[in-house]
Amino acid sequence: GREIHLASRPTGWPSEENFRLTEVTVPELQDGQVLVRNLHMSVDPYMRGRMNDVKSYVPPFKLDAPLEGGAIGEVVESRSDAHKPGDKVVHWLGWRDYAVLDGARARVIDTDLAPASAYLGVLGMPGETAYIGLTKVAEFREGDVVFVSGAAGAVGSLVGQIAKVMGAKKVIGSAGSAEKVQRLLDLGFDEAFNYHDGPVKDSLKKAAGADGIDVYFDNVGGEHLEAALSVMNKGGRVAMCGAISQYNDKGAASGPRNLALAIGKEITLRGFIVGSYSRYVDEFNTQMATWLQEGAVSYDETFVDGLENAPQAFIDLMKGANKGKMIVNLG
Ligand code: NDP
Repeated sequence: GREIHLASRPTGWPSEENFRLTEVTVPELQDGQVLVRNLHMSVDPYMRGRMNDVKSYVPPFKLDAPLEGGAIGEVVESRSDAHKPGDKVVHWLGWRDYAVLDGARARVIDTDLAPASAYLGVLGMPGETAYIGLTKVAEFREGDVVFVSGAAGAVGSLVGQIAKVMGAKKVIGSAGSAEKVQRLLDLGFDEAFNYHDGPVKDSLKKAAGADGIDVYFDNVGGEHLEAALSVMNKGGRVAMCGAISQYNDKGAASGPRNLALAIGKEITLRGFIVGSYSRYVDEFNTQMATWLQEGAVSYDETFVDGLENAPQAFIDLMKGANKGKMIVNLG
């Protein structure tokens, strides 16, 4: 089988030279383990942080070792009582054709509910992030006006739809192209704008109108966060989910320069890591399964074929090449 190793640590934007495709022999199974042939793997923005040699909530990727990340595969051999060949599983050893892992770390998925790839997006970590970030972190309430950035991406597109189905007064999304803006309107967002069209603050003010905004789900940071603080109503809440506008910056991070507005407006800014909220995952699974079956939530996926193209897919993800979840097809 093949795997992708981290060959060197990127500074600023990553390039293909930071990655290496390597041929390896798949190890023998130990008791309790499964051999999985990977079918899909996820590329996610958080992986950029793991490529730096800095202490964070997940340890950095090791040099000259395979990268890791969410993946879906088919069990081809099992020495685990809970798995049989043919089972589809979700697990954390992506970036390789074959994974050997403890059965306890490979969760069998229900492909009658949705195609396997959905477990990397709407029914997986990004879906959990959207639901938990909106309802638990931002403490969304019926009647809120919600603004979400990165709105055409895996997390953002779900945040907006969940807010709508849960009774938001208005949902506003920002994204990086006219085509994505149209997609947001088709998904039921009330207002959407292309953040390249002018200052974010101006576009957001216009979209919010006299309602202002009560909740900001921040995937982007920087200018977007500054604009949201400036348009936010008294008692507003910000779920700080990501700051993708800064992940590939070499210099000091920018803004928000108006953070002091949070005092007078009594704004709550709350950062979160979805992994710390596992107590809500069952609630999420039940809720999202229902919404999918009812057709209340839809989801987009962008597929790239071939393990050898995974590094480029990861780089393209951060440049906005995806609509919805970016997924690499293997095998
Ligand atoms: P997305 O599917 O949203 O893909 C990333 C998107 O970011 C791109 O499609 C691009 O869309 C947008 N983008 C890139 N650069 C910029 C920029 N400078 N300004 C504005 N938008 C930009 O990824 P995910 O849904 O997986 O992740 C979204 C965010 O959520 C990320 O910040 C990620 O780190 C965070 N996250 C946090 C988690 C947590 O536990 N806190 C868990 C999961 C994700 P466009 O064309 O619109 O620019």
